[in-house]
Parts: sequence; structure tokens; C-alpha cells
Amino acid sequence: SMTIAAAFGLVIGLSVYGNLTKYTSTAFLIEQGLKRNEFLPFYQPIIDSRDGSILGAEALVRWQPKGGNLIPPGQFIPFAEENHLIDPITDQLEEKVLDDIKQFGWQDSSRFVSINAVAEQITDTPFCANLLRRLAEKRIPAKNFSVEITERHQFPDLDRGRAALQSLVEAGIEIKLDDAGTGFGGFSYIQELPITTLKIDKMFIDTLRQEKQDPKRAVLQAIIEFAKTANLHAIAEGVETKEQVSQLSAAGVFAIQGYVYSKPMPAEEFIRWMNAR
Ligand code: C2E
Ligand code: CA
Ligand code: CA
Ligand code: CA
Repeated sequence: SMTIAAAFGLVIGLSVYGNLTKYTSTAFLIEQGLKRNEFLPFYQPIIDSRDGSILGAEALVRWQPKGGNLIPPGQFIPFAEENHLIDPITDQLEEKVLDDIKQFGWQDSSRFVSINAVAEQITDTPFCANLLRRLAEKRIPAKNFSVEITERHQFPDLDRGRAALQSLVEAGIEIKLDDAGTGFGGFSYIQELPITTLKIDKMFIDTLRQEKQDPKRAVLQAIIEFAKTANLHAIAEGVETKEQVSQLSAAGVFAIQGYVYSKPMPAEEFIRWMNAR
């Protein structure tokens, strides 16, 4: 018969095995998805609320498994970021974004597509060098491309981060600070990194439709004031209502990304959407 110790060992063994299977199967599925070229960008427009013109778009990754339903990034990006799978995913995405930009016909404008990158990609991978090489190969003007760095991740080394980002800025690529006010960076990222734009997170925009006083509303005002004083552009993200658009206008924020204008769309739909405006 089984002793208590042996039973305990079995339980621990099973749970370790369980985690391992979960890890192996998720990683396996993502790797399979990569081989099958299943990661693709959806585009969400960023609009100037004063005249409705298109300023640019953000490329947001989606996973379309063969014969399955579309998987949103919330279901695989956090895992991928923690398990060294974000680099090949970003790579696959970037390749498609660069081809799509050519279809958009933006070379004579300053419209941009931004993609999301995390701190470790900037400091510890050839992300920046590869991006510059691809833009040159595909003859895409750097001004049509921008990179969003999220504050959710800590930079392993701010000096290296600055140097790598500077190489992009010198080529004409703008850097935007994503999820501004929510994460690690605080004021250090804004001071230390060559950032031109703050993306104001939905969390703060949401306070604009609440009746009750929310302390986050004060943070929103502080971010907007700070952007003005520091001469940074601001993009409000997750804007869902016209009322929010007019409150943001009153506060001097005109670059709007959110369902009030459009959800993220596949490239062909985004092109049709632009042509219909
Ligand atoms: P994010 O970079 O802050 O992107 C904005 C998210 O807000 C997107 O969700 C977008 O669809 C959503 N959104 C925009 N406007 C509205 C609105 O008016 N209402 C609501 N409810 N939502 C709105 P999505 O596409 O699900 O992406 C979620 C997050 O996944 C992104 O947040 C980003 O952190 C991450 N992500 C997406 N693509 C990539 C990628 O290629 N690389 C990395 N590292 N992360 C990515
Ligand atoms: Ca983003
Ligand atoms: Ca964001
Ligand atoms: Ca966000």
C-alpha cells in the first residue's frame, strides 16, 4: 500500500508534469503557428478628431489557426513574452506589416504604422538592426513606420535601450511610449529614452465617462499636462464615445484611437475603410 510520503510525491510529480505539459503544448502550438505563418496584423486607425483625417494606424497581432477561430493577443502574447516566443512572432508580424504599408500608398505622407515591441527585444535582440535593414530592402520610408515600447516591461539596461532606440530615431523612426502611466517607466523612460509620443492608456480614458470622482482622472490630467510641458505628442487610446472625444479636445488631445472611429481590421478591410472615407 502507498505511504503518505509516496502519495505526496506522486501529487507533486503530477502537478510538475501538468505544468510541463501545459508549457510544452502552448509553446508547441505557437511554434506550429509560426511554421504555418498564422500570425498576422490587424490595423486600428489613429484619427485627428479636428478634421477626421487619418494620422496612422497601430498594427495589433492576431493568430489565425488553420480552420480555427481568430485568437486575440491577450490569449498568447503574455505567454510568448515570458517564453522567448515573442521575437519570432514580432518578426512574422513585421514582415507582413512592411508588405501591407506598400499597399497603403503612404510614401508621400507622414502617416505611420506602429508595431509593438517590448524592452528586451530592443536591448537584447537584433530587432532594431533587422528593422532598419528590412525598411531599406523594401524601400519603405522610415517616417511611415513607428515603434511602441510598453511601460509594462522593465528595461534590462536603460543605456543600451537608449542607444538602440537612437539608431531608429536617427533613421527617422518615431518611438511612442505605450501604456504611459501604468508601468515601470514612470518619468525615467520619458527622460532617458528618445520618445516623441505618449500613448494614454484606456484605463485613464475610461475615467472620462464616469460620474464619480476617480483618482485616475487626476493622473490623466497630469499625463496630458506633462505631454504639453515636455513637448510630446499624445495619442488617446481606447476612446469609445463622442463625449470622450470632445472632452479630450477640450484638454488639447486630438489624436484618437478607439472604437469610436474603428475597431482593428485586417489589411484589406482597412484599405476599403480608408477608401470609403
Ligand atoms: P495595446 O498595445 O495597449 O493595444 C490597444 C488595445 O486596446 C488593443 O487590444 C485594441 O484592440 C484595444 N482597443 C482599442 N480601442 C479600443 C476601444 O475603444 N475599446 C476597447 N474595449 N478596446 C480598444 P488587442 O488588439 O486585443 O491587444 C491587446 C494587447 O496585446 C495590446 O495592448 C498589446 O499590449 C498586446 N499586443 C498586441 N499586438 C502585439 C504585438 O505585436 N507585440 C506585443 N509585444 N504585444 C502586442
Ligand atoms: Ca500598443
Ligand atoms: Ca496602448
Ligand atoms: Ca494598453
